[in-house]
Amino acid sequence: VERTLALIKPDAIQNTNEIEDMILKSGFTILQKRRVTLTAEQCSDFYSEHYGKKFFPSLVAFMTSGPILAMVLARENAIGAWRELIGPTNSTQARESHPESVRALFGTNEQKNAVHGSDSPVSAEREIRFFFPNCIVE
Ligand code: ATP
Repeated sequence: VERTLALIKPDAIQNTNEIEDMILKSGFTILQKRRVTLTAEQCSDFYSEHYGKKFFPSLVAFMTSGPILAMVLARENAIGAWRELIGPTNSTQARESHPESVRALFGTNEQKNAVHGSDSPVSAEREIRFFFPNCIVE
């Protein structure tokens, strides 16, 4: 089975129970779970691929504005299946094209989009280690 990193972002932390229900109903196992509030430095490190982009400072401000929930999800094709379940990046567009998706249901716009999902096996491994440094990844 494959693993992916899921984040519930500060804008959706009050919807944690509903989002966890969607995760479990879609056949994922939640292997690890940790509630954290990132510092700006930690957040900049996590999103280093976006450093220098116009939206970077406001992304860091948003992602450090309150607690987030980091989870390691396991399933066959976990990376693709989680990205499918969360829907497109922009929650406004998600409401048009994927109205049942997590981002459509719990996000607001292109920045406040409720959740994150790793986009490849390499980023999943990096992101799982980022939040769960002691996790054993086979
Ligand atoms: P994520 O990586 O958070 O799951 P994603 O991979 O679909 O989302 P990225 O393009 O990697 O999206 O952007 C990372 C995050 O930065 C987005 O999830 C969103 O919160 C924010 N973001 C992306 N594009 C914009 C934008 N144009 N304006 C504001 N915020 C943005």
